[in-house]
Amino acid sequence: MHLRLGLDIGGTKMEAAILATYSGRDEVLARERVPTQREEGFTNVYKRMIKLINNVLNQNGTSLSDLAGIGIGLPGAVDPKTRQMLNGNTAIFVGQDLPKLLALDLAFSGPIAVANDANCFALAEAILGIGQKHAKETGKTPEQLNSIGVILGTGVGGGLIYQGRVLEGTNGGAGEIGHTQLDPNGPKCFCGRQGCAETFLSGKGLESWYGARFGEQLFALQIFDRAEMMDKNAVLALKIYRDYLDQFMLNLISFFDPDFIVLGGGVSLQPAIYQGLEERIWKHTFIPNAQPRIYPNMLGDSAGVIGAALLVP
Ligand SMILES: [Zn+2]
Repeated sequence: MHLRLGLDIGGTKMEAAILATYSGRDEVLARERVPTQREEGFTNVYKRMIKLINNVLNQNGTSLSDLAGIGIGLPGAVDPKTRQMLNGNTAIFVGQDLPKLLALDLAFSGPIAVANDANCFALAEAILGIGQKHAKETGKTPEQLNSIGVILGTGVGGGLIYQGRVLEGTNGGAGEIGHTQLDPNGPKCFCGRQGCAETFLSGKGLESWYGARFGEQLFALQIFDRAEMMDKNAVLALKIYRDYLDQFMLNLISFFDPDFIVLGGGVSLQPAIYQGLEERIWKHTFIPNAQPRIYPNMLGDSAGVIGAALLVP
């Protein structure tokens, strides 16, 4: 049995799980989730991280020496050479050498892989989530497919999967698609540019431009609810949102020519964003044969920890 430990470290929660692979099947054997409590600082969070790892190992009597490796998902871009987080909204992890610390403190000599959480999401969906379904329907294996995981959450993030593997890029920045521009005159983004995809398509972005345009501060969820009830402003906002999403998807397809795109994050739970989406964009793909599917995710919020485990070969 091939055992891998995944660790999904987020700004609000941390989760660990053991993924077992045997006879071509994958199963989560143990898992536990705790709040990150990042305000307590790195040392305290790190201590709880060690405890979390030991807890999931103890849950089904696995010892560290049984593990093929440990995979860690972090909430920011990760430098593939130093394996340290370069940026992100959870500053306590920036510049920390987690693989080195964990290897020492756990006395673990196996491989420890690190990637950003959006890459973990994309990898999990590609290999064990919607990628399985797509592979079955097309007569391929998940490892033969190319896909993009797009997170439409508080921000917009993404991961590029080429034939079953994460594309990191030279500096670990491949797939930072939230900061590609949709409108040079659009809202200011925290990254310094204007009109990034994130400023239009993230939950926060939608709330912000809705407020500026219609003079009412609503949560993203309320905007979608009102659109369903045919509220005039919300219906118009949904149309604008879809137009931006169309352009964003078409840009991604031109860059990467994927088999499919899988959406995650809070906004991806809204069925309204999928209505007519494929039909509209398929008319405009540059390569006429490129008709990638666009799916909601299958693994929900388990994708992070499963993707982290899958980072280990
Ligand atoms: Zn930006």
